[in-house]
Amino acid sequence: MRVCETFASLQGESTHAGRKCFFIRLAGCNLDCSYCDTRYARSFEAGAERSVESLVDEVLASGLKLAEITGGEPLCSSETPRLCQALIDNGIEVLLETNGSMKLDTVPAAVRKIIDCKLPDSGMSDCNLYENYSLLQKHDEVKFVISSRADFDFACHIIVKYALFERTPHLIASPVWGRVSFEELSSYVMESPLPWRMQLQMHKIIWGDRRGV
Ligand code: SF4
Repeated sequence: MRVCETFASLQGESTHAGRKCFFIRLAGCNLDCSYCDTRYARSFEAGAERSVESLVDEVLASGLKLAEITGGEPLCSSETPRLCQALIDNGIEVLLETNGSMKLDTVPAAVRKIIDCKLPDSGMSDCNLYENYSLLQKHDEVKFVISSRADFDFACHIIVKYALFERTPHLIASPVWGRVSFEELSSYVMESPLPWRMQLQMHKIIWGDRRGV
């Protein structure tokens, strides 16, 4: 499989924010979001070829018990489900960050999926594969990356339409930096009757746009 980069760092997002985590960033993405902050990982030629076995060895050597597989879009690689299972078999808790446009039925049940729901300002909202929501488990999360009031309203509509609050307690509102202020988004969240959880991207607060930290 094609791997853009690997590194150990603090998890900056999701309900796992603040935990020590080993990141495996796969190369290649099928989408082109307006706010993408990992453009270097979008090319399917980025990085280097790695085997599942060598990646598992690297995670185990790190001593960390939590790994995130991200991208790019990790499900563009047919080997990702096997990597997930191999990590789980070695006692690693696995987070899979996916853009919500690829089928999730091959992902092992023990994986904690973090599914982006693309909103209108991303330019990719037609790519959401809503049938994936039937596979949500309580440990999974749905993340809405919000640029504007219109994005927030769209997100609320999706949550209600698919009754996402019945499938998972983890419905995450995350601001696009520079497009909506933390204060503005927090007021949307507080005014909404839905069970939102707001996140900031902790890694950006600590390290800005530096890569691999
Ligand atoms: S899905 Fe993720 S990696 Fe792909 S373009 Fe969008 S933000 Fe970038």
